Amino acid sequence: MSLAEVQSRIDAALAEASRPKGAARLVAVSKVQPLERVEAVLEAGHRLFGENRVQEAAGKWPALRERFPGVELHLLGPLQTNKIKPALELFDAIQSVDRPALAEKLAAAVQGRGACPQLFVQVNTGEEPQKAGVAPGEADAFIAKCRAMDLPVAGLMVIPPVDEEPALHFALLAKIAERNGLAELSMGMSADYETAVRLGATVVRVGSAIFGERAYG
Ligand SMILES: *Cc1c(COP(=O)(O)O)cnc(C)c1O
Repeated sequence: MSLAEVQSRIDAALAEASRPKGAARLVAVSKVQPLERVEAVLEAGHRLFGENRVQEAAGKWPALRERFPGVELHLLGPLQTNKIKPALELFDAIQSVDRPALAEKLAAAVQGRGACPQLFVQVNTGEEPQKAGVAPGEADAFIAKCRAMDLPVAGLMVIPPVDEEPALHFALLAKIAERNGLAELSMGMSADYETAVRLGATVVRVGSAIFGERAYG
């Protein structure tokens, strides 16, 4: 478990970029990790976690939350509209708002509840056909559409193409956020979170560098 090392590298990258300590929060991505590794990170005092699938998170986190108060849970993977209800019950943030149909159903579901998780619009900066997210050219209109439906968008999330320089994608995401007045930038994973922090990430999502390699997924 190298939670402490990842955290200290984040602190160093923040200092390098003259950003205040704590300006980038660490989401520990616990998807498909064995329970004992997740418990070890909880026992070390960490409370911010990310999962990719509603069903997997629903099977794991209600019990962990009883044992470890104060957990904050983020959904990182694509959300099917038929899973919105359990997702709203489980997650404090949804980082994968990626299409109008989802935004519309979320807006309706949130109105009935009177509370809304923190929302991130996922941007497919590489315009990869297999990847979720709105295209960079459609991001402004999509954000405006969410706002028009009273969906409070807090920021943007990106997963850059694996074979490209991530810094270019992080910079593009930061630009889209800035022109839309969005404060939160979720970018950077195990291989590139320090770069992301230097480029303004307010949230990094780190799995294998904390927990070790995933067996699958
Ligand atoms: C799995 C995953 C991560 C973490 O990936 P690592 O390379 O293990 O750090 C981050 N973000 C998303 C959206 C993921 O699906």
